[in-house]
Amino acid sequence: MEKINLKALSKQELESFIRDSGLPSFRTRQLLNWIYVKYAQDIQDITEFSKELRESLSERTCISNLKLLDRQTSKDGTEKFLFELEDRETIESVLISDNERLTLCISSQVGCAMGCRFCLTGKLGLKRNLRPHEIVDQIISVSRIIKPPVIAHHPILTKGRSGDSLYKKITNVVLMGMGEPLANAENVVDALWRITGLMKMSPRRITLSTSGIAAKITGLPKKAPMVNLAISLNATTDEVRDYLMPINRIYPLKKLLGACRRFPLPARRKITFEYVLLKDINDTPEDAKRLISLLKGIPSKVNLIPFNAYDRAEFQRPDDESVLTFQDILTKGHILAFIRKSAGQDILAACGQLKARYKIENSK
Ligand code: SF4
Repeated sequence: MEKINLKALSKQELESFIRDSGLPSFRTRQLLNWIYVKYAQDIQDITEFSKELRESLSERTCISNLKLLDRQTSKDGTEKFLFELEDRETIESVLISDNERLTLCISSQVGCAMGCRFCLTGKLGLKRNLRPHEIVDQIISVSRIIKPPVIAHHPILTKGRSGDSLYKKITNVVLMGMGEPLANAENVVDALWRITGLMKMSPRRITLSTSGIAAKITGLPKKAPMVNLAISLNATTDEVRDYLMPINRIYPLKKLLGACRRFPLPARRKITFEYVLLKDINDTPEDAKRLISLLKGIPSKVNLIPFNAYDRAEFQRPDDESVLTFQDILTKGHILAFIRKSAGQDILAACGQLKARYKIENSK
């Protein structure tokens, strides 16, 4: 008989399982704590349970774990993790260290069906949606993998549970890895409740990035915790956006930005607009001026990301001067604009690139 994977169960399903097993209800709380806070990898890790209880649970249940296939560290400290799922599909997560923040970029699908032209994941196509526990497990797995640090009193380092050791702690999570989160909205929403409710991460520290499924953006606040919203915009005309991002043919700029305007933002929060700058495609001063008009009425900030060129890429990175001019025009138009360097350029840290390379190398 196939064992029940306790990590795959929702809180309600776990409660039913505990009840049906004739165990007291406090065992649910203990199990959730061991899985989502203490990161137990096996029933036998749960030392709070008697040996007999562990043995009987082990006969019927298990706790799944992602298998680490590859880990690369960039010169700038960015780390990429390639994980294998139970069906041997692979996903990736990227850990970015930035001053006081340690941000984990996680995947929501195996591959992606959205077909954005500048993205390697888009070229791989969609294999399947990730299940809620597979989304959450990226945070658990990377948290376990991170090595104990050597420097004390660093802001991103936290006292170990025993109080005597120090370990790095993920402070922020972005759903910006492989996949379109809103194309797997039900599982992503379930994962977000686990991350905020069971792992106790503040929704303010979580960002969901979408290529622009406007209908799902509108429904999000009713279903999910109030996480930050980021829109991968990348163009200022429908013509260019249709070319770069096929989703624009279904939800053109007017519909997408209309959904953003209606999005019930909490006080002092902004929507982040990601804008990958592609030489001679979307990087002109006219684009910058159009962007100012498009974002009117939306509390927003813009992340400008000069394209991270890869082998045989169709696009080029703009020169630094064009990037600075673009930023300058936005700033003068009262739009908060930041230039983000693509983290981990030497290890291919744009979404999908590690997996794409792994596939290529292993098919040689
Ligand atoms: S940019 Fe995001 S939505 Fe577009 S193809 Fe890549 S992973 Fe999918």
